[in-house]
Order: sequence, then C-alpha cells, then structure tokens
Amino acid sequence: MIIGNGAAGTYAAEQLRKLDIACEITIIDDEKYTLYNRVSLPRYLKGVLLEQRVYVRDMEWHTNNRLDLRLETKVTQVDFEGKTVAIEPGGEIPYDRLLIATGGRPNPLRAAGADRVKGWFNFQYFDETKAMVAKIPESKVAVVLGGSFIGYELTEAFAFRKLETHWLMRGPWFLRRALDEPGGEVVSLLAGDAGVQLHYEEAIDRLEQSDGRIKVTGSAGFGATADIVGVGLGLTMNIDLFKDTGLETNVGVKTNEFLETSMPDAWAAGDVAEFYDVVSQRHHRMGTWDNSLNHGRHVAKNMLGAKEPYVEVPTYASGMFNSNISVMGVTTEEEPDAEAIVEFDLAGRNYKRLFFLGENLVGAILVGKMKGRKKVLELISSRTPIERREQVLEMLALPETPARPAAAD
Ligand SMILES: Cc1cc2nc3c(=O)[nH]c(=O)nc-3n(C[C@H](O)[C@H](O)[C@H](O)COP(=O)(O)OP(=O)(O)OC[C@H]3O[C@@H](n4cnc5c(N)ncnc54)[C@H](O)[C@@H]3O)c2cc1C
Repeated sequence: MIIGNGAAGTYAAEQLRKLDIACEITIIDDEKYTLYNRVSLPRYLKGVLLEQRVYVRDMEWHTNNRLDLRLETKVTQVDFEGKTVAIEPGGEIPYDRLLIATGGRPNPLRAAGADRVKGWFNFQYFDETKAMVAKIPESKVAVVLGGSFIGYELTEAFAFRKLETHWLMRGPWFLRRALDEPGGEVVSLLAGDAGVQLHYEEAIDRLEQSDGRIKVTGSAGFGATADIVGVGLGLTMNIDLFKDTGLETNVGVKTNEFLETSMPDAWAAGDVAEFYDVVSQRHHRMGTWDNSLNHGRHVAKNMLGAKEPYVEVPTYASGMFNSNISVMGVTTEEEPDAEAIVEFDLAGRNYKRLFFLGENLVGAILVGKMKGRKKVLELISSRTPIERREQVLEMLALPETPARPAAAD
C-alpha cells in the first residue's frame, strides 16, 4: 500500500513491480492526475513546455504494470496495529506493508482579504499551474511573495512572460538561511538583469479585488494593482492523518537510514521523510525531485526484505534568470552550525559557498558557473577530510570576469 503518487510513491511502485512480479500494489492519491513532474511546472508556466510533456506516467502504464492506482481518493486514517487504511471514498483496506509518500502542501497566504480575493496562487499542483497559465495572457502586472525556490520560479516565469513583475521577500535577501548577503546580491543582480523589481523585507498585508484586478498592500510600504499574485511560503508536510497513531513525526515522518518509520512494516520516502542521512549523520528532509525518486527506488528494496541504508548526497539544480543555481548536501538552512566559506564575483554573477562540519565538506551552493560541481559532490559523499578549506575554493577557481558596463548593473 502506497499513500501518494508523486515521484517517491510512483518510483517505489515501479521498483516493487520490477523486483516482485507477484505482489499486489495499491497506490492512493487525492489528486486527479497520474505522476506528473513538478519540476516541469515552471517551464509549463513560462510557456516553453506543452501540458502533455509535464506527465511522466499514464494510466495505461499503471494497468500494464498491474498497479492499482486510485485517484481522487484520500487516506483519512491509518491503523498501524490492525494494518488497515481508511480511504474516502472506499472504506477500509488491509495492507501488509505501507509506504508513506504524502509530500507536503503549500502554506497559504495569511493576509487580510486573501480568503475572498480571486487571482492569487500557490505553486505546487498541476491545477494551480493550469489556472495561472490561463490567467497570464490577460495579465500585465504580477506580484510574487516568497524568498525561496518557489518564489523565484514564479518570479522568473512571470518576468519571462513579459509581465511587470514585483518580487517581495520577507527577508533581507533570497534564501536568507543558506546564502549570505553577497549571495543574495548575486541573485538580486540576476533578477534585476531579467527586469524584475525587488522589494526586500516586505510581505503582503492585504488583498482587495478592484475592477477584476487585485490591489496589493505590503507590510512595509509596497503597493501595486496586480492581475496575478504568486505565493511561495514553504510547505507543511502531510502528516496530520498520523496524529494520535503513535507514529514518530517531527516536521515530517521520522525514519532511520533504511527509511523505516517507528511503526512495524511502515516506511516513508520523498519530501515527507525526515530520514537519518548517513552522509551528514543527522536527520533531515529534502524537498527535491531526485531525492524523492531515489528514495522511492531505494525503499522498494527494503520493503521487500533488504536492509540497505540510503546513501545519497541530495542535490538541487535549476536554471535561474538566465543563469544556474545548484545546491548540494546540507546547508545552514538545515544545519545552522555548519561553518561556511565564500567566494564571489558580482560582475560575473558568480558565487560559491561551501559548508563544513569539522573537517568534512557537507554541502555547497553554486550560482552562475557550475565548474567543479562534480568534484564537490565527490568530496561530500566520500567524506574526505579537508585539511585547508580554501583548497576546495581554489579547485573551483574561475577565470576573472571583466566588469560589466555600469548600466547593465
Ligand atoms: C513548482 C515546483 C518546482 C520545483 N522545482 C524543483 C527543481 O527544480 N528541482 C528539484 O529537485 N525539485 C523541485 N521541486 C520539488 C520536487 O518536485 C518535489 O521534491 C517532489 O516532487 C516531491 O515528490 P514526493 O513524491 O515526495 O511528494 P509529492 O509530489 O508532493 O506527492 C505526494 C502526493 O501525496 C498526495 N497525498 C498527500 N496526503 C494524502 C492523503 N492523505 N491521501 C491521499 N493522497 C495524499 C498529495 O496530494 C500528492 O499528490 C519543485 C516543486 C515544485 C512544486
């Protein structure tokens, strides 16, 4: 029994079927779609990817692989002792082994008027993205709130669609817990190059409908009349249904290195799994596609009787305003005690921040040139002791970039 048909749930089902042709596999999901690629949603929003290309698996594939996928069905309760799940609609179903792959849901905008005003969107689901795609052609002005990845994906897409785009962040710069001020500045310069207007230490206080448009009032003086408002304020993990079941949870579902939960015959994978990471030697959660996919494939083996630890350096790589960003391993976002060293080149829009715990390199963020990324990954995963931290920066050294004309900055 698998709860959730995202990357973690679907790739687990695929691997289970590959390894065991006989087992019965049921997947329950409350959305109406077979697996689609959330990572493709920004390109679909930008208008550079067709809707059909967002899907990863179709119903025929599920039928051919004898995967009993029940869409638009919610798991409302799990009885870990009796080994049953209650589904709505549908009643109760027994299971032998359970995989929790429920991911997270976006935090809503808590601003006055948000419950009444139409035209603001989170960015997590296909349906929200389709609604934004329908709205963009009739839009001129966009406002985005959120200083993390979803905030920038929305901002980049609106700017790419030639909307006047305002990007509001509650913090002093992008990814304020993982980047320092120069890192934030490189991202601001890239956003500015793309025509985005940035507003720091701002939030949305009030939304009002006005002639079919949205009057946006900020908390620190911002004001605009927008046609579309995008909101990226992080995720809350879907763990509510496990309340009072005894399952150990924190922000997500706690697991050991084998992705086993605290309950017998129950595993967790993907965004929702707060797993013991043998590379960084601590529990944490990763909100990335690769991690969900790899978790799914890995956990299938353990569900079938293996006991293999999950050993993988989490990575996130994405385009960013005509440049690139890559996050590897653990940063100060997850591990505030990590020590960082930095090198940057504002004119060339390049930035590197390396994170250390003791003599080990545990993570890195690169913006701009990606030279040395593979080597950094190797050093993180091999836990090679590093004598002199600057050595790693030297290894990533970039050729000097001539300064850009002042106007371009
Ligand atoms: C716009 C966007 C851009 C992204 N870009 C990147 C990127 O560039 N690179 C990257 O690595 N990652 C990116 N990500 C993150 C990545 O997509 C996620 O980490 C990954 O898809 C999570 O997969 P998952 O299977 O763990 O969870 P999910 O995909 O969230 O799947 C969980 C499913 O379970 C369902 N569910 C929850 N509770 C229940 C219940 N009680 N009953 C039934 N069903 C339930 C949910 O509705 C959902 O369908 C992006 C995400 C978004 C939204």
